[in-house]
Amino acid sequence: MMLIPCPCCGPRNQTEFTYGGDASVKRPASDAPEAEWFAFVYLRDNPSGWHEELWLHSAGCRSWFKLRRNTRTHEIADSAALHQANPKQGAEP
Ligand SMILES: [Zn+2]
Repeated sequence: MMLIPCPCCGPRNQTEFTYGGDASVKRPASDAPEAEWFAFVYLRDNPSGWHEELWLHSAGCRSWFKLRRNTRTHEIADSAALHQANPKQGAEP
């Protein structure tokens, strides 16, 4: 079992959450070339180590937030609501 720290509700069981994907992916401009849109929609890295992710507290407050999780150990460094500052980027906890 993994406890995920929702910024609104505190630590909760992972079964209450839905994974939303890589939080570092940037949406291209509406007039960007098709190759950029293809990469945005379909291409994802498979990182080993610290990764910034989007999560939805789907069985709780229904808020989207970012967290940094180690994909090898499932250790979670920090989380933040989307309107707050991003979790520390690129730094080890
Ligand atoms: Zn919540």
